[in-house]
Amino acid sequence: ATADSGAPTIFDKIINKEIPSTIVYEDDKVLAFRDISPQAPVHILVVPKLRDGLTQLGKAEERHVDILGQLLHAAKIVAEKEGILDGFRVVINNGPDACQSVYHLHLHVLGGRQMKWPPG
Ligand code: 5GP
Repeated sequence: ATADSGAPTIFDKIINKEIPSTIVYEDDKVLAFRDISPQAPVHILVVPKLRDGLTQLGKAEERHVDILGQLLHAAKIVAEKEGILDGFRVVINNGPDACQSVYHLHLHVLGGRQMKWPPG
């Protein structure tokens, strides 16, 4: 289980295009790119370009309300682009018990196969 150190993460390098990723959607506030270890035929990460203290959802403050909404809206745009609007899942892993491994808030957009509930 990884803890939240507040240190910069690999997502900064992806956002700054210092390391390559397959970008699916981008605007001034949000970047969406394919997960390097996909858990479904479609597996995309949606991240705020500016972390601004949002290492995890549990650190959200009032000032983050706009970006939180923008991330969810970007998840919908990504699902539409990927053709999975008939069934997709949006996941946020928060903290060690949820197996969060990268401490830069990110939404997982998963689809393209039958999902199961509860995910375990
Ligand atoms: P978490 O477990 O923190 O919710 O999700 C982190 C995700 O980031 C994992 O699904 C992992 O596969 C993905 N990931 C980690 N490093 C990289 C990388 O360098 N590039 C990409 N595209 N995804 C990454």
